[in-house]
Amino acid sequence: MSGSVYKIRCPHCRHAIRVRNSVEQHPLLRSMYLQCTNVNCGATYRAGMEITHLMSPAADPNPAIELPMADAAIRRAAVERENAKQVDIDDILQDELAVE
Ligand SMILES: [Zn+2]
Repeated sequence: MSGSVYKIRCPHCRHAIRVRNSVEQHPLLRSMYLQCTNVNCGATYRAGMEITHLMSPAADPNPAIELPMADAAIRRAAVERENAKQVDIDDILQDELAVE
């Protein structure tokens, strides 16, 4: 399992949250069902993961998908985070769904 699961924290107790399940609402929007890993808290949540911008263009773009390009400052910050070895949200979802 990716260590990145610990980057999503329960807003109440600040413990790690597990992604229990996720459902595609739209090619750009996924609903996620989250569960706090603190047994003394037990909170569960519904959250949304929305694709809002292109960071780099697709090699074979779908004409039905219209996304603005992220500005240069956002792209630069992403490169810096990538260099700091943060893990992508897809890795979190893949790891969580593989456990189910
Ligand atoms: Zn909690």
